[in-house]
Amino acid sequence: MKPDMIPINKPLIGEEEIQLVVDVLKSGFLTSRGPSGSMVSKFEEEFARYVGARHAVAANSGTAALHMALLAAGVGPGDEVLIPSFTFVATAEAVVLSGAKPVFVDIEPETYCMDPQLLEKMITDRAKAVIPVDLYGLPADLKPIFEVAHEHGLVVVEDAAQAHGAEYFGRRIGSVSDLTCFSFYASKNMTTGEGGMVTTDVDEYAEKLRLIRSHGERGDYNSVMLGHNYRMTEISAAIGIAQLRKLPKFLEVRRGNAESLTAMIRDLNGVKVPFEPGGRRHSWYLYTVRLLNADSKVRDAVVAGLRRRGVGATVYYPTPIHLMPYYRRFATSKLPETEKASEQVLSLPVHPGVGAEQVRYIAEAFTQALEDAGF
Ligand SMILES: *Cc1c(COP(=O)(O)O)cnc(C)c1O
Repeated sequence: MKPDMIPINKPLIGEEEIQLVVDVLKSGFLTSRGPSGSMVSKFEEEFARYVGARHAVAANSGTAALHMALLAAGVGPGDEVLIPSFTFVATAEAVVLSGAKPVFVDIEPETYCMDPQLLEKMITDRAKAVIPVDLYGLPADLKPIFEVAHEHGLVVVEDAAQAHGAEYFGRRIGSVSDLTCFSFYASKNMTTGEGGMVTTDVDEYAEKLRLIRSHGERGDYNSVMLGHNYRMTEISAAIGIAQLRKLPKFLEVRRGNAESLTAMIRDLNGVKVPFEPGGRRHSWYLYTVRLLNADSKVRDAVVAGLRRRGVGATVYYPTPIHLMPYYRRFATSKLPETEKASEQVLSLPVHPGVGAEQVRYIAEAFTQALEDAGF
């Protein structure tokens, strides 16, 4: 990477984060286990209020959040969990860690999210849960997914690792599904370095999540169930509190960048720009374009051309999960739309560190890279 490369994403840390972290270090209480944990509880309260959920339970990664949400939902060996294959591997990993089997559902070509039309015929007697993924920050089409899921008694565990602040028909993501999982990995819309959160309105789920997070302990040294150490540190929570306060501003800049970029590149031949279907509000974690009718060679040449020009274009995801060496064993059906999308998409930087002039530069570099690649 050239030093002046515009990265695809980048955390924005300021004095507010630094001050809160210093406060934690000076307090001497670094963990949320035991009587301390004031930053973690504060972060949980503020996050729950922000998304409009009754409960928020912090974890030390988005992957841990997904795993503990599945366990709290009662997912275990012998169960099946329906998920898209066009997502980050953690979605499938959490399912396998819970002892269940992932069943892959193909995506809608327009939004890249799970296709609700295909969900029902993939449901067997063993199905226990479904994980819609809000890919790139665009909420999956949750309403038809709920209808099918609830008719078949499935729990909906939403993977909103990329969708902080996104909305579905006026409701903020985190207050819509039975359980919603977020990530605060360094690249995400807001970060704690590493971290995650599960939100839910169901008291029983929240209680289970808190048990699972910390060794299944109810009271000190009194484990009532199998758990993990998935606790968030006080230091991470301090960063999270400051980041959450800045999130609305971050999202506004992302939206502005995305809209400018769309205005500049929407008329390029064969380029499909991202959009918001009615009722869905994007978080613009990733601004992903599609090169219609291209194969992966042409797409990769365009990415290389962008990188040569200092634009950190990146492909999410070049290999769908069902084609990865470890996960191939779970591939039971054809996923043509997933495979096609994985060959044609690429993402351009719109993070809040990207200024208006850089947006213009990215649009120009993209136009030239397309030409160079003969697209
Ligand atoms: C980032 C991400 C995760 C995992 O979160 P970590 O905090 O990195 O463990 C899960 N699912 C999706 C879709 C993600 O983008």
